[in-house]
Amino acid sequence: MSIDMNQDAKQENTNTAVKKRVFSGIQPTGNIHLGNYLGALRNWVNAQAEYDNIFCIVDLHAITLPIDPVELHTNTRKLAALYIACGLDTRYCKLFIQSHVREHAEMSWIMSCFTPMGWLNRMTQFKSKAAGNLDSVDTGLYCYPVLMACDVLLYQTHYVPVGDDQRQHMELTRDLAQRFNAIYKRPVFTVPEAQIREEGARIMSLTEPTKKMSKSDTDLNSRINLLDDPKTIKKKINRATTDSLRLVTFDPERPGITNLLTIYQVLTGESQQEIEAAFAGKGYGEFKAALIDRLVTTLEPIQKRYYELMNDLPTLEGILKQGADEVRPLAATTLNQVKEVVGLG
Ligand code: ATP
Ligand code: MG
Repeated sequence: MSIDMNQDAKQENTNTAVKKRVFSGIQPTGNIHLGNYLGALRNWVNAQAEYDNIFCIVDLHAITLPIDPVELHTNTRKLAALYIACGLDTRYCKLFIQSHVREHAEMSWIMSCFTPMGWLNRMTQFKSKAAGNLDSVDTGLYCYPVLMACDVLLYQTHYVPVGDDQRQHMELTRDLAQRFNAIYKRPVFTVPEAQIREEGARIMSLTEPTKKMSKSDTDLNSRINLLDDPKTIKKKINRATTDSLRLVTFDPERPGITNLLTIYQVLTGESQQEIEAAFAGKGYGEFKAALIDRLVTTLEPIQKRYYELMNDLPTLEGILKQGADEVRPLAATTLNQVKEVVGLG
């Protein structure tokens, strides 16, 4: 099922003064890539005026796998700067760092006591990230979906715009909210919906197009980072895996070219038919050159703004502090309600 900016929600938002709440986040685990941008960030920016938005840099999630402390701290600021550089506007969005609002961690403990292990055992992301190290991997990685559910539920969120890989975690979030509400026979939590766009929801690796583009992939050529310079973009796209057919057409049997075409489609807003017609009779070289051009012109203004923001860290820290100060009371209200119904305190 794909939910494309729910029409009813749109209608409702324009008809009433109260906007629906949107929440989402990205882990500061490494370089933000085109998958994060096309699957998540870009959609947040495009819909921001319609909703009451809260966007988080989920640093507590980033420690589920080993990460250097200095790198984590720096990545967190870089990601915040990229949020703004990509177009998130503090007039519409509250931006903050997850660990600045301690309610996330507290709520996560409580909700882990309402999450059957069987639910977590089914999570495919855990299986792929643990990759055969079940005895040595830390329990935080296993419990990650509970923390993610709490991130969303703390703010009585209606919509969570994410990429396709988060579908299963969002189902768990809904199940957990419903289970808790049913146990206590009270609507403590709003049951949120995932917003997963059809195009760009699953950008694939450039070198192994059957797996998703990821920050944590050790192959640096597998992804375009938002901060890549034109030379690097050119090199990576020219090296991207295609096939020997040399037909510029969308074809699930040829995941390499289809992935590149999908990136082009989302960046240009053109239809599949328009793109196939424009490149009919042309080779991969010509198509890749057009894609490189489009990527460079899309990323150039984002990078310019990013470097300006990184050169003024006090302003950035101020925005993040203000964001945390604004969301903390919202999180505290939900947490206090949860504690009260459970009988804590
Ligand atoms: P990691 O490998 O550390 O998990 P990641 O690349 O998966 O990093 P996340 O921080 O886990 O990035 O995800 C941030 C957002 O980007 C989520 O909404 C996720 O669904 C989306 N996303 C991640 N990878 C892709 C992709 N390849 N295509 C589309 N969306 C993606
Ligand atoms: Mg991920």
